[in-house]
Amino acid sequence: FTVLAFESSADDTCVAVVNSSRQILSNIVVKQHNLHEGFGGIHPSVAIEAHQRNLPGAVRQALDGARIDVNNVDGIAFTRGPGIGGCLSVSSNAAKSLAAALNKPLVGVHHMQAHALTPLLTTPIPNLPRFPFLTLLISGGHTLLLLATSHTEFRILATTADASIGRAFDKAARLLGLSWGKRGPGAALEDFCREDDVLDPADLPQIPSFPVPMPGRLAFSFACLHSSVERYIASSSPDISRAHKVAIAREFQDAAARQLCAKLVLGLEKSALRGIKIQDVVVSGGVASNFYIRTRLRECLDKYSPDEPIALLFPPLELCTDNAAMIAWASMHRFLTGDHDDPTIDLRAKWSIESLPAVQSGSTS
Ligand code: ATP
Ligand code: FE
Repeated sequence: FTVLAFESSADDTCVAVVNSSRQILSNIVVKQHNLHEGFGGIHPSVAIEAHQRNLPGAVRQALDGARIDVNNVDGIAFTRGPGIGGCLSVSSNAAKSLAAALNKPLVGVHHMQAHALTPLLTTPIPNLPRFPFLTLLISGGHTLLLLATSHTEFRILATTADASIGRAFDKAARLLGLSWGKRGPGAALEDFCREDDVLDPADLPQIPSFPVPMPGRLAFSFACLHSSVERYIASSSPDISRAHKVAIAREFQDAAARQLCAKLVLGLEKSALRGIKIQDVVVSGGVASNFYIRTRLRECLDKYSPDEPIALLFPPLELCTDNAAMIAWASMHRFLTGDHDDPTIDLRAKWSIESLPAVQSGSTS
């Protein structure tokens, strides 16, 4: 079964072709960082216009790249939500119209479910995550710790009380005056932290440790971390040195990693208390592409369970941030069970991952 999928919930225009044998036949992502850098974040109407401009070319490229005629596609998927309403509507209109024109089945997908299920598409079969598993979704719009018990059943163990971790990276990058580069502000901050490889550590100023908020509680807060950076910069001398900025960036990134580790361990402890055995932890979303965070999470799981190793699974880098391959994969179990959406289906700019419709029967892995 071959799916053509569309995703445009935020600032990336994405089209992909994926089949039920877990083959990604094409995966086109058109980024818009250069258009939004001047606004310091995603500007909705600029994003909508760019999606409208970029989508037709991306569809052509995805079909050509997959070497498939559109008539041979078996189903059409799109991101139904959550996301920016106007951005979602660009993909949704394209997908619905194409499905109607070609008389093909249509499935609307939950964007965060797609991020969470990506490792089921990309992990070698012997290492596939086993339900129930814990999922850390760390992205531009969300910071969620979820218990996944099936493809469609997710319970929120922790969410953020304020900003997402991705937005905190974006704001910290801006406070430090970093330019976004090709990969965006979060990745620019990660790269900047590595600058101290060329600096003598003794030359790096000591930064006070930024605290982990709400210790002992299953809740995230990243606004306070971003405020720590803001306050520290405000209290420092106006012409703050580059080495000093590297030290601040490193402390920020370390505090973000410490918070993720602390809350993940709490989630594992609470699951164990309720008799739920967790063998796998899946980490997805844009911030999951951060290598420092990947390493810290691995260390913390090894420390938590040294005798019974817990597997830690990430999508490959290009599938951590938004893409349509994950949308295609999240739709697959519905196509394979004949569970389609009506062409008049509405968008859900706000949509809790706890309220997905139950799977009808069977599953894809
Ligand atoms: P959501 O999925 O919640 O709707 P989104 O789709 O905008 O939000 P993603 O594309 O999953 O988010 O991730 C984008 C976020 O990830 C941005 O905030 C970006 O700065 C951050 N990010 C990307 N790469 C890195 C990195 N290497 N280190 C830290 N943050 C990163
Ligand atoms: Fe996303």
